[in-house]
Order: sequence, then C-alpha cells, then structure tokens
Amino acid sequence: MTDCIFCRIAQGEIPSTKVYEDDLVLAFRDLDPQAPEHVLVIPKKHIASVLDFAEEDRELAAHILTVVVPKIARELGVDVGGFRLVTNTGADGGQTVGHLHFHLLGGRSLAWPPG
Ligand code: 5GP
Ligand code: ZN
Repeated sequence: MTDCIFCRIAQGEIPSTKVYEDDLVLAFRDLDPQAPEHVLVIPKKHIASVLDFAEEDRELAAHILTVVVPKIARELGVDVGGFRLVTNTGADGGQTVGHLHFHLLGGRSLAWPPG
C-alpha cells in the first residue's frame, strides 16, 4: 500500500468528495477549503509535482488544462466571476502533499499576490 495520501484517494482507499473523475484524472473538494469553491485536481498516476511531468505526460497535462479545469469551473459556476488555478511546488511554493495537484479556488474575490 502506498503512503501517498493522494494516490490513496485516487484509488478510493481514502474517501473524498468527488467533483469530477475520468480514467486519468480525479477532482475532489479540499479538506480545508480556502474559498467557497476549493477543488483539487490530480492525475490518478503518481507525479510528484510539475517538475516531474515527463514527455509521456503531455496529453495528460493538456487534458487537465484544456478539458478538465474548464469543465469543472463551468460546473461550479466560477467561470463567470473568475477563479484561480495554482499548483504549489516545493518548500518555498508551500507544497505539503507530494503528489501533483492543481488548486481551483473561486466563489469569492481572491487577493493577489498571495502571502
Ligand atoms: P498543498 O499545500 O500541497 O498545495 O495542498 C495540499 C492540500 O491538500 C491542502 O489544501 C490540504 O487541505 C489538502 N488535503 C490534505 N490532505 C487531504 C485529504 O486527506 N483530503 C482532502 N480532500 N484534502 C486534503
Ligand atoms: Zn501519489
């Protein structure tokens, strides 16, 4: 059994509130939401961060950005008011889970730059 918490969520070993799923990708609500809509979009396969995308992941990366994120944003209704998509990377980036994830945050006005 893997000790990667997001692999375990992707495999259904740890429950999550799913908002989208296909063969390659899972999206679920963040346990500690920072906005009215706060969804994590992950590849089902373990990739540690954007630094670890390989050549073979091109289609997966494009699928996440061109299909999955717009679809979720529209379904949540944050496409109208706007939203933020962010992937924290490494220690200075504030990454706490070592499985690539994109935060989709919306439903309120978000400050920029973040702290
Ligand atoms: P990071 O800090 O790595 O960018 O983001 C990790 C995110 O995962 C955090 O926002 C945290 O609340 C969320 N998280 C950590 N463990 C779990 C979990 O078991 N379930 C869910 N749904 N979210 C989690
Ligand atoms: Zn993982």
